Amino acid sequence: MLRPNAQITALSELTPEWLRARGLKGVVLDLDNTLVPYGEEGPVPEALLEWLASLKAAGIKVAIVTNALPGRARHWGERLGLEVRALAGKPWKGFRRTIRRMGLTPREVAVVGDQLFTDVLGGNLVGAYTVLVPPLSEKGLPHTRLIRRLERCILRTTARP
Ligand SMILES: [Mg+2]
Repeated sequence: MLRPNAQITALSELTPEWLRARGLKGVVLDLDNTLVPYGEEGPVPEALLEWLASLKAAGIKVAIVTNALPGRARHWGERLGLEVRALAGKPWKGFRRTIRRMGLTPREVAVVGDQLFTDVLGGNLVGAYTVLVPPLSEKGLPHTRLIRRLERCILRTTARP
């Protein structure tokens, strides 16, 4: 449940071809430390907009599911031109409704994020294809450093031979 289906080093690795090869038609993205560094308000990285445009042009559906507060979520949703669900309650809640609104099933969706205990666990619980990315910043909530240590430990012990 805590093992991602794939680990990548940058979002740009998720090309339409990469997604199609795995039968994926949609991408549900985490916000903080996945799309933008935690706590940052802007500016919008040009490369990020280009990557999102390339997915949309290929007919890939994209949305944000985040535990962040509504104000911050809306701020980034508007700037990135994406539907966003705030205060999602990951890992237990938040994915099913968004995936349904995309008109897809969980199996057709990549859930992408930087945290095992919210993004990967939540995505695995609904049966999505989970993708772990390195965090954009080490900043986060006060308990994040402990979480990161646990994550590294889990990734080591569950690594495939
Ligand atoms: Mg995150």
